[in-house]
Amino acid sequence: VKEKLALLKENKYNSVNTVLEDLALEAAAKVDAKISKGEEIGLLEGIPFGIKDVYMVQGTYTSASSDLLKKYKSAYTATAIQKLLDAGAIPMAKENCDSFGHGSSSENTVFGSVKNAIDTSLVAGGSSGGSAVNVAADYTVFSIGGDTGGSIRQPAGYNKIYGLKPTYGRVSRYGLMAYASSTDTVGPLAKSIEDVAIVMNVMSGKDPKDQTTILSEEIKQNIVASKPEGIKVGYFKNFIENDAIDPKIKADFIATIEKVKAAGYEVQELDFFNADTLVSTYYTLAMAETASNLSRLDGTNYGNRIEDKNLKETYMVTRSENFTEETKRRIVGGNQVLSQGFSDAIYLKGQELRNEIEAAFEADFNKVDIILSPVTPGPVPKIGEVLSNPHAMYLSDAYTVGFSLGQLPTLTCPFGTETGIQVTGAKNKEQTILQFANFLN
Ligand code: GLN
Repeated sequence: VKEKLALLKENKYNSVNTVLEDLALEAAAKVDAKISKGEEIGLLEGIPFGIKDVYMVQGTYTSASSDLLKKYKSAYTATAIQKLLDAGAIPMAKENCDSFGHGSSSENTVFGSVKNAIDTSLVAGGSSGGSAVNVAADYTVFSIGGDTGGSIRQPAGYNKIYGLKPTYGRVSRYGLMAYASSTDTVGPLAKSIEDVAIVMNVMSGKDPKDQTTILSEEIKQNIVASKPEGIKVGYFKNFIENDAIDPKIKADFIATIEKVKAAGYEVQELDFFNADTLVSTYYTLAMAETASNLSRLDGTNYGNRIEDKNLKETYMVTRSENFTEETKRRIVGGNQVLSQGFSDAIYLKGQELRNEIEAAFEADFNKVDIILSPVTPGPVPKIGEVLSNPHAMYLSDAYTVGFSLGQLPTLTCPFGTETGIQVTGAKNKEQTILQFANFLN
């Protein structure tokens, strides 16, 4: 733990906002005491983990990588994090990310762009970039990210580790700073499928503090053992036959499909919405929800209030000085699609499309058990290339946002293409996707 704390403090990749040294040493001492007494310890006891800086951990800074909340200290602890602490895991750091989860590169942050753990000239991916990098660099054994439209899966792929976006509701969102509440999920990034399963089993479950949580079955630990039988596999034709996909990613993805066929699995090509429709539906709804969720941040109850002539000016100056350009773009966009005269044509249309997308997924999962897809259409961008072109950034989320709208469980695996592949199942089929991913490896 001490060695890892030193590395986190050095912060070579800008992956850390706050090192939780006191909490970590205190937790580690408890485990030491148990061991020296000869007591048995649990699977997660003494295991160092990182926390995306959007989770409340009582008494620690929780900044959402924003100026507004840079000095804000959490008053309570998120349910998912509390469960890990209760299991004896060691909290090491609050991790750098795109501010409020807004982004795909971890450059939209006031703590400096996060560098990719494999090639520091490249972006870490986002928004849970710091979380992915800390795992990839072995600073933490696992990290807890947040995934609204790809934020666990895409940085996992960019740093060649595993990242699971669970079924919506499987893990409580209580104490996660809300981005788009209807697709926000809590999940782990780790170097092995087994670690993903162990962490999920600890975090999952109904929580009276989050009415959207669901009951779920435990993921069995023996997933690593056998080849899954009787699984039908599908992939979306539209995801690989379009102008945007990088030829190498396409070729590598097709090679993975061939490998699955060669292993004796039935593979179906599925028709689906084109990726542009998924992106526009997701961003319409995500911006609307974030505009609503962030309206509470006006400097009255939390954060860096900047006084001005009167209350209205105080709100305005506090918000315009403290939010990043990308966050302001989303608040303005969200308020526009929700406003009178636009909401029927844009917001409600987005809701309708979302229902159609969900229904289409349901129909597909009557035909197949697993859907495979690339994580991104393009390779990992260089630092500095992404934020200046928001439209291109949104389009780069084409393959992750659909599964968020469908509230489906999806695992990024660090192989198959340069940015990994996604293994998706029907709701609550985490066990099946982890098992299939393990076979693919
Ligand atoms: N890149 C997507 C967005 O900016 C997803 C982010 C996330 O999942 N938090 O909305």
